[in-house]
Amino acid sequence: MSYDPSNIFAKILRGEIPSKPVYQSEHVLAFPDISPRAPVHILIIPKGAYTSAQDFSEKASPAEKIAFIDAIGAIAAEQGVTETGYRLIANTGTHGHQEVPHFHLHLVGGRALGSMLP
Ligand code: 5GP
Repeated sequence: MSYDPSNIFAKILRGEIPSKPVYQSEHVLAFPDISPRAPVHILIIPKGAYTSAQDFSEKASPAEKIAFIDAIGAIAAEQGVTETGYRLIANTGTHGHQEVPHFHLHLVGGRALGSMLP
């Protein structure tokens, strides 16, 4: 899948669509999902143009990868869910029901989420 620069998260990164960042670094942006499914529902995205985790894995620099992993713990702590726990979700491609073709993690928590595997 080639990267489509008209996707919503690319527009957020360019400032064309507003978001309320909860975390930002050189390589990472995180902001609340517009349609939260739990008390905590944060989208974590690399600033680079990657469609999926696989694309990110293959093309991102070591610095971008480290920054992305580091962001997860920092955001969880900032959201107050480190102790209670949370779920990370990366919907990928058609079968994974990925709506926005810019790699992202959903960090979801703030309540008991139950079992989710299909
Ligand atoms: P996906 O199915 O691609 O993993 O999920 C994309 C997510 O992006 C959805 O949960 C959706 O609610 C969220 N979303 C779509 N448009 C916007 C937007 O303009 N702003 C924000 N903050 N979230 C959005």
